[in-house]
Amino acid sequence: MIRDHVILGGLVAMVLAPTLGIRGSLLFWVGTVFVDVDHYLRFLFVGKGKTLGLKPMFAFFERSFQARHHKDFLVLDLFHTAEFLILISLFIFFAAPFLLPVLWGIYFHKLVDFFHLLRHRALTKRAHSFIEYYLRKKQIEARGGNPDALNTKIFQGNV
Ligand SMILES: [Zn+2]
Repeated sequence: MIRDHVILGGLVAMVLAPTLGIRGSLLFWVGTVFVDVDHYLRFLFVGKGKTLGLKPMFAFFERSFQARHHKDFLVLDLFHTAEFLILISLFIFFAAPFLLPVLWGIYFHKLVDFFHLLRHRALTKRAHSFIEYYLRKKQIEARGGNPDALNTKIFQGNV
């Protein structure tokens, strides 16, 4: 997935270069790629920071993707949440308008993710806001499930 963003984002950045300028399209590209940094944060969080390497991280996300239809499956990725999008949008609009191309890149990333998740019937597998995450976690727990335990199992390769 990150590879798709690097490549697709790079292509669109090139197409936009006449409009955004070289600096602007570079910022756009940084925006599209930066969003997925939160995946590494989830990897650190689930693994309690004990494993740091990129190879185990990609293996973890492959297993996580395979487990996406499990009834207890629920994940939250910080930079993919509505709350983060609102905050970064407000910040850039009002405090750092020179970073607007970064924001277009972030929106473009969300658009690419939308189609990717749709194609894999996974649109609802990742919570899209902290509130949604909280409510859904409560629901899963109410029927005896445990998303955290499932994520730990995925991390350990036991799923
Ligand atoms: Zn993403």
